[in-house]
Amino acid sequence: KMNTDLGQHILKNPGVAQAIVDKADLKQSDVVLEVGPGTGNLTVKILEKAKKVIAVEMDPRMAAELTKRVQGKSEAKRLDVMLGDVIKTKLPYFDVCISNTPYQISSPLVFKLLATSPAPRTCVLMFQREFALRLVARPGDALYCRLSVNAQMWAKVTHIMKVSKNNFKPPPLVESSVVRLEPKNPRPQISYEEWDGLLRIVFVRKNRTIRAGFFGTRAVMALVERNYRTWCAQNDIPLEDGPSAGDGDTMDLDDGGDPEVEDEEEEWNGIVDDADDGMEDLPAFFKEEAKRLSRLSGSKGSTKSRRERGKVAELVREKVRRVLEDETDLADRRAGKCDEGDFLKLLWAFNKEGIHFS
Ligand code: SAM
Repeated sequence: KMNTDLGQHILKNPGVAQAIVDKADLKQSDVVLEVGPGTGNLTVKILEKAKKVIAVEMDPRMAAELTKRVQGKSEAKRLDVMLGDVIKTKLPYFDVCISNTPYQISSPLVFKLLATSPAPRTCVLMFQREFALRLVARPGDALYCRLSVNAQMWAKVTHIMKVSKNNFKPPPLVESSVVRLEPKNPRPQISYEEWDGLLRIVFVRKNRTIRAGFFGTRAVMALVERNYRTWCAQNDIPLEDGPSAGDGDTMDLDDGGDPEVEDEEEEWNGIVDDADDGMEDLPAFFKEEAKRLSRLSGSKGSTKSRRERGKVAELVREKVRRVLEDETDLADRRAGKCDEGDFLKLLWAFNKEGIHFS
């Protein structure tokens, strides 16, 4: 009867349901967003403590069951059931989010919540154990990844309890954990897209040096170069301004002359492998870059435009080198061992050189 494709694992232990609601420290005046209420085991407990619950449920059968559960009771007036996919739904205002999350939407849900404005006061969320551990991982931990840095940039993240699979019906295949996210207030004043754009690059392989992360993959340099061109165009800056980029005669996008460039084949495999960080859009992002790059190097173009391309490529390489080696001392560090402060320093230094990541 349950649809496990929709992650339907009902929390059958009332003690655990109560503990989750208690951990949210609800106020009588709170509006609570509940994601995937299912049959409403958490919902009824939230309704005891809060002013209002907005429950977003994708499965019409579940939504109907929940509506029936409160029918005729005074709670009915304080419950709004919204039918649909929470990721695609425009959410009304809420103070707190509580969710026994359908695990397939863990990552998009976290980022949707962190991007919500005004930010919710707190979010208490049940996740698959490993996802929860990634959220709280610190530099040097095996599970530390782009997801960890991103979540910790925008929120204080705490692991609050382990929940074993026997507390669910049907039991899921994996263990679970409850995590609290408290969005930072005020919100850090940086662009989410820029920040994440930089992290995508340095976390392609978190155990390699940041220098290799930039110079070891042609697609990355091509991306940085494209963003630099866009930025120059938007700010009326002549493309070849800045320090001399050499005569450009020997430079071309397809020169492949960097000793640090590793075997391209191996590189792409690596990108796909390390993309397993709970943020599933990574391979697509790099594949698109690779396609663009092969179009570029396949096109003939005039000698003059080839030369111009080479000069800009060289200028951008020099800027990246300066940022990594002179402006910061992060060239030889590994992303897996850097914290939010290091990445912020890196982003600022790049931005100062006109290099952007969105
Ligand atoms: N909250 C209930 C409980 O704790 O017993 C049910 C939790 S169950 C793990 C997840 C619920 O989320 C299911 O009812 C499922 O239908 C619903 N769901 C799955 N994907 C969803 C989505 N994208 N948006 C909203 N609800 C979703």
